[in-house]
Amino acid sequence: MKHLPENDIAWFTETCDECGSAFSLKIKTKLHDEKTPYQHLEVYQTETFGNLMVLDGCIMLSTRDNFIYHEMMTHPALFGHADPRRVAIIGGGDCGCLKQCLKHDGVEKVTQIDIDPAVTRASQLYFPELCVSNDDPRAELLFEDGIAWIKNAEPGSLDLIVIDSTDPVGPAVGLFSEAFYGDCYRALGADGLLVAQSESPLLHKRLIQDMTAAMRAAGFAEVHQLYFPQCVYPSGWWTATVAASSAGKFDKNGCRALKKSFETVYYNNLIHKAALAIPEFMK
Ligand code: SAM
Repeated sequence: MKHLPENDIAWFTETCDECGSAFSLKIKTKLHDEKTPYQHLEVYQTETFGNLMVLDGCIMLSTRDNFIYHEMMTHPALFGHADPRRVAIIGGGDCGCLKQCLKHDGVEKVTQIDIDPAVTRASQLYFPELCVSNDDPRAELLFEDGIAWIKNAEPGSLDLIVIDSTDPVGPAVGLFSEAFYGDCYRALGADGLLVAQSESPLLHKRLIQDMTAAMRAAGFAEVHQLYFPQCVYPSGWWTATVAASSAGKFDKNGCRALKKSFETVYYNNLIHKAALAIPEFMK
């Protein structure tokens, strides 16, 4: 553990050069620094946000506010699907989405495919609260390229695919492509849903439009954005994009969430509906 000099109040800053913006958190100490075969992995202890995971200089999650993102990447799709049983998570190595998916009693299996085992090792050490479901008999953790895994998945073998990836750089570039969405479409059943983290509406509108077009071109009948706050990400305003294999197979009213049998901190039926409201500039 690298302690900072007592009188040295340090800050971690993530800069977004193309956006001309930055976000900083006051740091107590650096807990982990590792060059994995795939990325630069750092973990910091912050003054007010708990622990902070950073990959290649980009904030992945903090102890304090990851609940918003992990709940919004999973529950709208799981409650928007009539009967989700077989789930695949591409990326998601911190295991936060895995934990949320396994709260759904009807889910029979969640396979998490992250290319980098170091991320899960670091999460087990510094974010143990996200890894509490890793030993659930329904959970399967694989460490390989999600692009190849989806390409080899049996057609119609999945009800939901969650793409909890890093930004479209490095090994994650292919996770934002029409070809990959086409492989996802084939792996999903007729009632299947796909949900992908889709960056900031304020800073990345064009990317969101491109992702939406690529999902439609890949065969998805419906594509919707979910809007939610996420203060540690650039602009503090984030989206997840939900795509339905067939029309009318994503319940925008989230009726099943009215019978939610477990605790959440952010998500509920009203949030489900409100997150789908489209800001004027995104229409
Ligand atoms: N919530 C974060 C965000 O929005 O930036 C992402 C969380 S998770 C840590 C992102 C994961 O995507 C990383 O663990 C990374 O290893 C994984 N990843 C990137 N490219 C991948 C690929 N081609 N296949 C599988 N996992 C990949």
